[in-house]
Formats: sequence, structure tokens, C-alpha cells
Amino acid sequence: MTKVALVTGGTRGIGGAISLALKKEGCNVAATFSSNSEKANAFSSEHGIDVFQWNVADASACEVGVKQVVDKLGTVDILINNAGISMAAMAHKMSVEQWDKVIRTDLDSVFYMTRCVLEGMREKSFGRIITISSINGQKGEMGLVNYSAAKAGVVGFTKALAQETARKNITVNAIAPGYIATDLLADTPEKVMESILARIPIGRLGTVEEVSRIVAFLASDDAGFITGSTISANGGQYFV
Ligand code: NDP
Repeated sequence: MTKVALVTGGTRGIGGAISLALKKEGCNVAATFSSNSEKANAFSSEHGIDVFQWNVADASACEVGVKQVVDKLGTVDILINNAGISMAAMAHKMSVEQWDKVIRTDLDSVFYMTRCVLEGMREKSFGRIITISSINGQKGEMGLVNYSAAKAGVVGFTKALAQETARKNITVNAIAPGYIATDLLADTPEKVMESILARIPIGRLGTVEEVSRIVAFLASDDAGFITGSTISANGGQYFV
């Protein structure tokens, strides 16, 4: 039977590639976004993927949004928690707003979204929950205490939830990409980019397709024995 996949932040960047990869695997895909309607609508018309707008950092908006997806496409079989933001500042200069916004968008959202799909997955005795963490959640990064804490937090969430859901055939995994060429890095000054590349043994940024293929595998039946894991894809920059 056709599976329904919900990809947060699924209209561009890594999420866009994930939506396309899951569609290619035969899923009915719902891709969400927060504000960039122009990109989302263009993505939808080009690829025939349904798009939905809500803020994943808002628990009630997630409830309303997931209900809209279920009404249109059916119960969610595969949830990809991909939406995320980054706000850089050294800890001694970071505002409470910068801390809160990143924790809410990158960590709280993962719980808000997951709680909306768990019951449906439990009833079907099938589910795949995959969250995009980051190399910075594994090794920490200067100027990103908020982001590093949130991305480490989702790994703990993944391990705990995997234990709760295993008996119901719901697998829960995370992916920790290194630096991937997307809009998130578009504003990076040339000098900083040079220093980033110098730290990646493979000598280049990763591609969104390289991340999306890991997601497609973890979402497949072939990955049914993998749960509670975090897969790193970082060009050799950091070994866990
Ligand atoms: P982009 O900035 O390219 O895209 C982010 C997506 O998330 C957009 O679709 C955006 O919607 C959506 N989004 C942002 N905030 C919200 C929100 N509050 N509610 C709903 N949707 C939201 O990011 P990337 O593709 O680069 O990153 C995707 C994920 O991968 C993130 O979690 C990021 O932390 C992680 N990651 C990225 C790496 C990289 O090098 N790029 C490395 C490691 C991890 P809209 O289009 O409306 O703005």
C-alpha cells in the first residue's frame, strides 16, 4: 500500500531533496514550510507534491497541520523532522530570544510533530520517524551553543523513543550531516567557507541528495532492524 510521508521543511534544501527521494520510492508526500510560499508553491507545481504551511515551533499549529495532512492524504507512516534554523552568536553575547527560537524550532518541534503521528503509527503497527540532527550536535560548534544543544537533544530523544516504540514496529533514527550545500550556508563569508572546507577530509560540501538517500533507506522496509541510531554523513570531518 502507498505510504504517506510528511517532511517538515520539505520544500527546499535538504528537505526538498528528501521529499523528492520519498516520492521516487512511491510515497504520497506532504511537504511543509514556514514562510517562503513562493518557493513552496513553485516546488509543489514542479513536482506535484502537496505543500502545507505551519510553524513547527508551535505545538497547536502542528496538531492542526498534521490533521490537514491526514484528512488529505491519510495517516502518516513516515515522519521526517527536518525543519530547522540556525542563529549564531557567542554564548556571552547570545540573547534569550536567540536561544529560545533555536531550541523551539530545532528541538521542541521534534516532540510536537512526533506526538501528532504516534497514535496513527501505533494503530497500524508500522512507522518510521527520522530526524535531521547535525555534526554540531555531536562535536559542538563555537558560536552555536543553542543549535548544538538542540541537535544533541534530538539524538537523546531518538534513543529514548526508539525503546518506547520498537514493539510496535516503529523505528526512530537520526541523521547527523556535516556541512551540506544549501541556503543555510549561502551567506557564509568566503573566508569562513575556506576554513570549513579545510576541515573536511573529503574536501567538499555534502549534497542534499547524499542526505536524502540515507533517509530513503532508513524509511524503507530494508531498514526495519535499525532503530535508535544516528547515521553520520560528514565527509570524514568527525568520527563518533
Ligand atoms: P534550509 O534553510 O535550506 O531550509 C529549511 C527548511 O525548514 C525550509 O523549508 C523552511 O521553511 C523550514 N523551516 C524553518 N523554520 C521553520 C518553522 N519554524 N516551521 C516550519 N518550517 C520551518 O535548511 P537546510 O536544508 O540546510 O537544513 C535542513 C535541516 O538540516 C535543518 O534541521 C538543519 O539544521 C539540518 N542540517 C543542515 C546542514 C547544512 O549544512 N545545511 C548540516 C547539518 C544539519 P521556509 O522555506 O518557509 O523558510
